[in-house]
Formats: sequence, structure tokens, C-alpha cells
Amino acid sequence: MPASVAVVGGGMSGLAAAGELHRRGLDVVVIDRGQRLGGRLGARTLRGTGLPYDGRIVDLGASYLTADDPGFVELVGRWTADGLAREWTDTFHVAGPAGITGTTSGPLRYAAPGGLRSLADDLALQLPSVVNPRAVESVERSGDGVLVDGDRFDAAVLAMPDAQVLDVLGDDDPLVARLDDVVWEPVLVLVAAFASRRWPDDLEGLFVNGDPVLSFVADDGRRRGDGAPVLVAHSTPAFAADRLDDPSAAAPELIDRLGAVLGVPAPAWHEVKRWSLAKPDGHRTEAYALDGPIAVCGDAWGARPRVQTAWLSGRAAADSVADLLGA
Ligand SMILES: Cc1cc2nc3c(=O)[nH]c(=O)nc-3n(C[C@H](O)[C@H](O)[C@H](O)COP(=O)(O)OP(=O)(O)OC[C@H]3O[C@@H](n4cnc5c(N)ncnc54)[C@H](O)[C@@H]3O)c2cc1C
Repeated sequence: MPASVAVVGGGMSGLAAAGELHRRGLDVVVIDRGQRLGGRLGARTLRGTGLPYDGRIVDLGASYLTADDPGFVELVGRWTADGLAREWTDTFHVAGPAGITGTTSGPLRYAAPGGLRSLADDLALQLPSVVNPRAVESVERSGDGVLVDGDRFDAAVLAMPDAQVLDVLGDDDPLVARLDDVVWEPVLVLVAAFASRRWPDDLEGLFVNGDPVLSFVADDGRRRGDGAPVLVAHSTPAFAADRLDDPSAAAPELIDRLGAVLGVPAPAWHEVKRWSLAKPDGHRTEAYALDGPIAVCGDAWGARPRVQTAWLSGRAAADSVADLLGA
């Protein structure tokens, strides 16, 4: 019988880890507490907007993918060929607090017509066993294996932000000492739906520099390819940090700054989403941590907190666990 591995967390890192463990012949199960997989590839379906966009998906977490690792480039290429991902743009507008100042070009950004979460669903389709929604409460060492909420596995991969790992690992676990050094920044995300497009025709996305409230704005219709006049605006971490208890109350300030920076009127419909653990500070150099039969991975394990980083971290952790189990 193959050795068994529980992957706790069905975001990009956990799904990447599970795919690699499955490929190495191990008996793998992914457990995630969300109603939907994908973690910070978050999305929501518009409802009750009073506009003709109800039922439309909006990306609320990661804005886009970039890919320069050969393995991830290959995966994004497959998604693109299958119509799950699409080349979005390499050029964004740039603004200061008083408005747009120009454009800047960078790497090609990829988006997903069905929302980035659909890419997580695609990875999950290749897996034998995914359990959600189920929140894991404890992961403990037991003999040469682990107990996940009392169920025995030969190994476990914890694929989530540090604070969520700490919630399930006992305080005395040796891995805890490896998790205490990363600062996680929060972000508030405003979804703003309009009756019609009221911003520059060539605008795909907007980096906002030097503004106390806004950091980035995406045209979700352009990104996803249906042209719907929906903007998604990300706050600065400092603005979010003081407003995590009541994100909806931040809407007027976010809308006001969106108007000032982009010259748009108030949206016909809006909503604010909170990400308390949006972005790790990205200073770790290791791709994952492993101690005995427990590995920890995710986007904090690498230089930049990106979807690609999470994918690479999950794969690297899985390879080590598979080696450990002799697979
Ligand atoms: C607002 C925002 C904008 C971003 N923009 C970009 C961008 O433009 N480009 C880019 O590349 N990246 C971006 N990112 C970062 C990107 O989303 C992440 O790097 C990546 O999705 C992290 O994946 P992960 O698997 O490490 O963690 P997560 O996606 O956080 O996955 C962790 C999973 O663990 C699950 N979980 C937690 N605790 C438990 C438990 N006890 N039991 C069971 N399951 C549990 C959660 O439900 C979740 O699904 C952005 C992130 C945010 C929040």
C-alpha cells in the first residue's frame, strides 16, 4: 500500500503539493476549510447588483498570474491552450494621489475568464481525494507519522499562511520556531460595478503610488475578457490594518479615492472584502520547511508572495516528503 499524506490547505501551494505527491504514487488527500478551493485566488459571484451582471464572477484575491519558472510557464501555457487562462496585458497605467501620470510595462500578466479560482478547480480535478469544506483543528506527531484531527497519516503538508499553521500545530512543535519571522500585511478589496465604463478606454489596470488608501485597481471586465464595467480596487496595507473589524465601513473612503484617482463617479453597486493575511513580507529564502513527517509551504516560502511562488513551494515540499517516504 502506498504511504498516505494529508495536505491541509487547498490553495495554490496545497494543490501543487498534492499533484506532485499523487504523481509520485502516494495516497494523498487535500483538506480545505473553504466552501470553494483556491484560498487567496478568491472570487465571488455578483448578486443583487441591480445591474445586468448578476451571476458574473469577480476576482477578489490575486489579480493576475505572472510566470517565469519553466514548470509554471508550462502549466500556464496548458491553461491558456485549454481556454482556462488568457493573456491579459503587459501594460498598466500609473497614478499618484491626484490622478493618472502615465503607463508602465512589465511582464505579461495572465488572467482567467472563469476567475483565477477556476485554475484551482482544474488542479483539483487531477486529484483522487479532496475534502471541503472541512476545517482541520489539529495536526500532531504520533510515532513516525502524524494525526490529523485524530486520523493517522504517514506525513502531512500544511499549505497555508503561518498564523493558520500555528492554529493547528501544537505550541511545542519544532516547526513553530521556523514561523515567527514573517510580517503578513492585510488588504481591503473594493468591488465597484458601474452602469457603463467611465474610465480611459485603454486602461487595463492601475498602479497607485503614494496614496494612503489605494494601491492597485484592475478593470475586471478587461481582465476576464467580458468587458463588464467592474473595477476591483486594492487598499494599502496601512489603510486596511485599521479597518479589519468593519471592512464595509471603509467603502466611502475607498470609493472617494477611486473617484479622485480615476475620475469616476460613485459606482452603482459596491462591496468590500477583507484579506487579513494577504501578503507575507517575502524575505524567506527556503522554499518550504520540513521537520520529520510534517512540511509547511505556501507563498511565504520564497522571495515574492506570488501564485507562482506558492506553486513552487508546494511542489518542493511535496518532493521532499515523497523522498522521505521513499516514493
Ligand atoms: C488582495 C491580493 C492580491 C494579490 N495579487 C496577486 C497577484 O496579482 N499576483 C500573484 O501572483 N499573487 C497575488 N496575490 C498572492 C496570491 O494570491 C498568493 O500568493 C497565493 O494564492 C497563496 O497561495 P497559498 O496556497 O500559499 O495560500 P492560500 O491561498 O492562503 O491557501 C491556504 C488555504 O488553506 C486553507 N486553510 C487554512 N486553514 C485551514 C484549516 N485549519 N483547515 C483546512 N484548511 C485550511 C484556506 O481555506 C486556504 O484555501 C494576491 C493576494 C491577495 C490577497
